[in-house]
Amino acid sequence: MAKHFVIFGRQGAGKGTQSELIVGRYDVVHLSTGDMLRSAIAQKTAVGMAVKAIIDSGALVDDDLICDLVIERMEADNLLEKGTLFDGFPRTTVQAEALEDLFSEVGIDAAINLEVPVEVVTERMLARGRGDDTPEAIAQRLALYEEQTRPVLDWFEQRSMLITVDGVGTPEEVFDRLCAQIDAKLGIETNGDSVGRSSYGE
Ligand code: ADP
Repeated sequence: MAKHFVIFGRQGAGKGTQSELIVGRYDVVHLSTGDMLRSAIAQKTAVGMAVKAIIDSGALVDDDLICDLVIERMEADNLLEKGTLFDGFPRTTVQAEALEDLFSEVGIDAAINLEVPVEVVTERMLARGRGDDTPEAIAQRLALYEEQTRPVLDWFEQRSMLITVDGVGTPEEVFDRLCAQIDAKLGIETNGDSVGRSSYGE
């Protein structure tokens, strides 16, 4: 059966790398609302024109617009059947509720929180040395992430859907941890036996 995941992580947490690995292993389609919006802006679509100034200012795009965009994409690409890795969505509890409605029949398998401490992501971003990566700008982006994302993480936590993965280590180490946690969760939710069996020898 198709799997459906959500991934969260601070800037610099390695979400892009882990997302690619997840897509390969769990056969899901990566749906990044940030990528979709950037491509709408590049193509100068009506949506693109409407959101450009908002995105440039660092604010969030309107919930209804984002939800419409996600629904359209899911239908166009038949994602309920193919499987999905949501990235950048949901970003508000209103969006989380819309997602819950969309998946009322099939369910979301897990929300993955790739956890890398603020000090570590700050060091990583400073090491890349990009022009917009000043210590002040980084701190501001991370504070905004915390403020916006915490309520959504709590929303998933309250519904026992959140998996928190330690994101410090090599990409392979992190992915191994992530898979172990996802597999345990899938086992519990889709087939109670498989978890029991896999833990016999341990
Ligand atoms: P980041 O660069 O923080 O990883 P993304 O690439 O996911 O962010 O998104 C870039 C911008 O697009 C966000 O700052 C926001 O303005 C807008 N955006 C993306 N996804 C959403 C969403 N689900 N709800 C509202 N705005 C969004």
